[in-house]
Amino acid sequence: MFLFFAMFMFVFPQWGQAAAGGTSIYLDGKALELSKNGQVQNVNGNVMIPIRVVVEELGFDVDWEKETRTITIQQSNTELKLVVGQSTAMVNGTKIKLAVAPKLISDTTIVPLRFVGEQMGLKVNWNNEEKSAYLITPNSGSGNGTGSGENEGSGGNEGQEPGQVPDTSANLANVGGISFSDNRLMIAVDKNVKPSIFTMSGPDRIVIDLPNTKFADSFSNGQMLDPTLNGYIDVTEYPDLSKVRYALFSDKPSTIRIVLDMNYAKEYELINNNDGLIIVNLNTDASTPGTAPGGNGKKLVVIDAGHGGSDPGAISVTKKKEKDFNLAVVLKVQELLKQESDIDFVLTRSSDTYPTLQDRVKIANDLKADMFISVHANAGSATASGVETYYTRADSLPLAKVMHKYLVESSGLSDRSVRSKSLHVTRETKMPAVLLECGYLSNKNDNAKLYTEDFQNRVAEGIVKGIKEYLGVN
Ligand SMILES: [Zn+2]
Repeated sequence: MFLFFAMFMFVFPQWGQAAAGGTSIYLDGKALELSKNGQVQNVNGNVMIPIRVVVEELGFDVDWEKETRTITIQQSNTELKLVVGQSTAMVNGTKIKLAVAPKLISDTTIVPLRFVGEQMGLKVNWNNEEKSAYLITPNSGSGNGTGSGENEGSGGNEGQEPGQVPDTSANLANVGGISFSDNRLMIAVDKNVKPSIFTMSGPDRIVIDLPNTKFADSFSNGQMLDPTLNGYIDVTEYPDLSKVRYALFSDKPSTIRIVLDMNYAKEYELINNNDGLIIVNLNTDASTPGTAPGGNGKKLVVIDAGHGGSDPGAISVTKKKEKDFNLAVVLKVQELLKQESDIDFVLTRSSDTYPTLQDRVKIANDLKADMFISVHANAGSATASGVETYYTRADSLPLAKVMHKYLVESSGLSDRSVRSKSLHVTRETKMPAVLLECGYLSNKNDNAKLYTEDFQNRVAEGIVKGIKEYLGVN
């Protein structure tokens, strides 16, 4: 039995304007009673459920404030605030962009199922053939909902008639994500895959075939995938190659092919420990070649630029996006960490994409990283100003204290202290993990500094100093 989790399972595929009347929702394998609590709706491909279903079937506390049309959904440490007609929600005080705003339809308020389920820590699988959503409570013991492993649906087959969907589709591994970071290709899969890898010349290429795989239904969220199931990643910041291309190469058997367009022939190393992550490492000139990140005695740090892609994060007083600040700082951290011979690092994103919170956590947990650092900027009242460092688990407090010291010093902004809060990425990671709020985008003075090269360079240096002090690296 495989204990893998699909990396990008939290997103429903678009399924056009199909009627939602036949939609079923299962919680831990048990069908929810939908009819008595109002109709499930499909708004632009997003399953929307009445808040009565959230209360009575999912069992979350829901508060409805009529004046402001605000829905507050609560469970243990998580609080979601959604407002009818508004496409941003607050999750534990942090703004998150919604694919679709809550709606009021003839006295019934409907909210996006995927968003609410995901934020409340449920696994959400979508079976496109059955038009069914499977919600799974962590540790419920209900496996993947149907018990048959089929609830990932028939990914990539949305355009086909149901009869043409190959029966073997359920046995295929889903490729949930393809990314390139720190000169390594990383492929997330939800079942064991035996890749075959070979080189071609004129021009130089490294080709990786993944037999018996398909793109996960949710692959196209945050990653390019055109209707012919082709996509690519521009990797111009790396000297060895110019592009990573991927496509559904064959359907007998269903095979995804990934091609690295190399600038010259280069050694590579394939790392496949059947742990859900396949790595093609191009860092073969290193003194200890042939190791997974962190597997060479070096400390491994995962750096997470908050938000990205469809999720802009907070919007500043000058209409700048938080996601751009976060990425700019993280890319500067990357440049500095490249000079540290005792530290390996992996970025959860190195461009404007949106890995889900679960993806970010999975990357760090799969790699057994020594440290997880998420970079954000805050928003609040116009007068709030300064920096905060958040942690959740007690074992993260020493890291939080060190990082905060350098964040205050390097930013030159006021010290709003180390704070404990239940945030997904600091809660679900298994190593010391902190989330840095590097200033307030809602504050004129903070905002004026945050987008300057000087500020970003200083904060990046501060982050690296903190990492080194915590890890005891000189
Ligand atoms: Zn943020």
